[in-house]
Amino acid sequence: MAREYPLERTRDIGIIAHIDAGKTTVSERILFYTGVAHKIGEVHEGDTVMDWMEQERERGITITAAATNCFWKPSYLAEAERTNENEYRINLIDTPGHIDFTVEVKRSLRVLDGAVAVFDGVAGVEPQSETNWRYADEYRVPRICFINKLDRTGASFEHSLHSILERLTSNAVPVTLPMGTEADFSGVIDLLLEKAVTFEGERGERVVRGEIPEAYRAAAKEARAKLIEKISETDDALTEKFLNAEAISLAELKSALRRATLAYQLVPVFCGSALKNKGVQLVLDGVVDYLSSPLDLPPVKGINPVSGAEEERPAKDEAPFAALAFKLQSDPFVGQLTFFRVYSGTLAAGSYVLNATNGDQERVGRILRLHANHREELKEIQAGNIGALVGLKNTRTGDTLCDPEHPIVLEKIIFPEPVVSLRIEPKTKADQEKMGVALRRLSEEDPTFRIKGDPETGETIISGMGELHLEVIVDRMRREFAVEANAGRPQVAYKETVRREAEAEGKYIRQSGGRGQYGHVWLRVTPRERGQGFEFVNEIRGGIIPQEFIPAVEKGVREATDRGVLAGYPFVDVSIALYDGSFHEVDSSEAAFKIAGSLAFQEAARRGGLVLLEPIMRVEAVTPEQFLGDVTGDLNSKRARIQSMGERGLGAKIISADVPLADMFGYATTLRSLTQGRASFTMEFSHYEEVPGNIAQGIVEGRTGR
Ligand code: GDP
Repeated sequence: MAREYPLERTRDIGIIAHIDAGKTTVSERILFYTGVAHKIGEVHEGDTVMDWMEQERERGITITAAATNCFWKPSYLAEAERTNENEYRINLIDTPGHIDFTVEVKRSLRVLDGAVAVFDGVAGVEPQSETNWRYADEYRVPRICFINKLDRTGASFEHSLHSILERLTSNAVPVTLPMGTEADFSGVIDLLLEKAVTFEGERGERVVRGEIPEAYRAAAKEARAKLIEKISETDDALTEKFLNAEAISLAELKSALRRATLAYQLVPVFCGSALKNKGVQLVLDGVVDYLSSPLDLPPVKGINPVSGAEEERPAKDEAPFAALAFKLQSDPFVGQLTFFRVYSGTLAAGSYVLNATNGDQERVGRILRLHANHREELKEIQAGNIGALVGLKNTRTGDTLCDPEHPIVLEKIIFPEPVVSLRIEPKTKADQEKMGVALRRLSEEDPTFRIKGDPETGETIISGMGELHLEVIVDRMRREFAVEANAGRPQVAYKETVRREAEAEGKYIRQSGGRGQYGHVWLRVTPRERGQGFEFVNEIRGGIIPQEFIPAVEKGVREATDRGVLAGYPFVDVSIALYDGSFHEVDSSEAAFKIAGSLAFQEAARRGGLVLLEPIMRVEAVTPEQFLGDVTGDLNSKRARIQSMGERGLGAKIISADVPLADMFGYATTLRSLTQGRASFTMEFSHYEEVPGNIAQGIVEGRTGR
């Protein structure tokens, strides 16, 4: 089957934004305008734009899918050029906005090739926009910016642009200017085309280009000159033309701006008001003109799990199939959907794929593509595209799916360990049964969400990346799975470790009458660096303990590390070596060695000096200057270590601090009341650190009743 859209006319993009900047509104407008444009292209009798708008109103646009497919013909094309050959396929990939979900942002950034960063034209750059921007830097995602909400009171294009230049990148350069602001905001000026653009019709669906009104000509001329200078600087041939004051064609400027955007040398800035239906079509033109197609990227790299060698997969339909599962989503009609991005090759419905991450073969049932208001079943899907599979049994977020003949594991998404946990209790017996299913589903979707049973109380403990993360889980359980549950207070996920190397003996010997028990080991516990985790080393030589009992010792040790020694928290960052012991020809058993291993570990850990570790969060708070004293004073009372303080333009201050998570519960409320709701903050996990002695003692006493 031939592909319908060549790769160079495919864009896999996402919108990144601070919560409330207008991501939902922009996405909804994108799907609306692309739907309208697509329909215009098909000449069916009576199938007018208005008809489509009626249908859309009845059915509603779905923007909750992990990836939605739409089509766009650039709005600047003349009527005769609006052919299918000039139509682009855009996969709009959902990215979450809230701080507790940065992991989700990272995971979506992993699969998209370009992003539209949306800003609130009143607030400009907000803390969350900065965090997401840095992640996008990390994944080298080319970007364009959209300064939204210019119709709002207090909106300022200049101020917002300034905050982008100052705080995000000095490479930002406007390609449009607003005409008027606040209530007078009427349209934008396209600097490259030198046209005033207005958006007419009931929902701004008609893009009209006209002369730039007199009042804006001087400003437009100046901004255009700056834009041309900036573009020219990125290209030797253009620099020369620019210096010689030769004319540079529109096509030359656009292709140079495209190259510069892909290389992250320039970031084009658009503006408008999604709510008032102004400017969004030009952003779509920008996506097509300046963001990457899958062909613009280097071949994806991965490891061949058989040979261990690094391999590459080019974005070609004939290459071996390789794809990344990036999101699991429950769908009311077809059950579980596994969203995946194809990096190379072609996948046919009904074939088999290898999940190279876990080694399982999976049958590919149906392949779906999701559109704004319908789903399409595909016979096959090719390189560069995004789709959803129905019926995969054992594939999780982040797994690689590939051709069984050409196994490859693509670069893994690394997820941090959860730092907050809470107990949940089903309200009724009926809820209890459904809760298990719901939790399992939710944890498959979200690798930073974990479930654990407390063996002593029979309660369920859930853990995740923050208070809000868990609140959302409990809420989704109620809404999507109809499970009512009581949630306890959020608790910090402490860990235990040792301070120094220590050795200890563990003996489990019962030899009075009948078949006896005999297990005897010596273990050495050595601290490892923070974040290195747990390791078991077998140093037994010459059969002092027969090989068959060693796994039992390891099992006993692992179970004991999970249970903890000091206060019931799991052990991390230790190396445990089994180096001596003895056995009995008749009485030794796996069970006896398991117990001996557990006893020896607990004793060695005590001798090594038990330590409690706590998660430390990197907190960034932005506040108007007048509240600075209150905010820092409060942070200091929370054992914060202030790392830096700086200006945030227009009388705002930013404070960056490391704060123990234990002191950060309810911070959103505290900050709001300290600053009359005018400050904002972001928080992300930084590292684990030793809990100070007196506080550790309190925690241990609270947990053990000692
Ligand atoms: P999200 O949280 O980033 O998805 O933001 P939403 O799209 O939900 O928008 C947040 C709020 O801002 C909503 O009340 C929107 O109606 C409003 N909003 C979005 N875009 C604009 C805009 O261009 N102008 C104005 N005045 N309000 C907007």
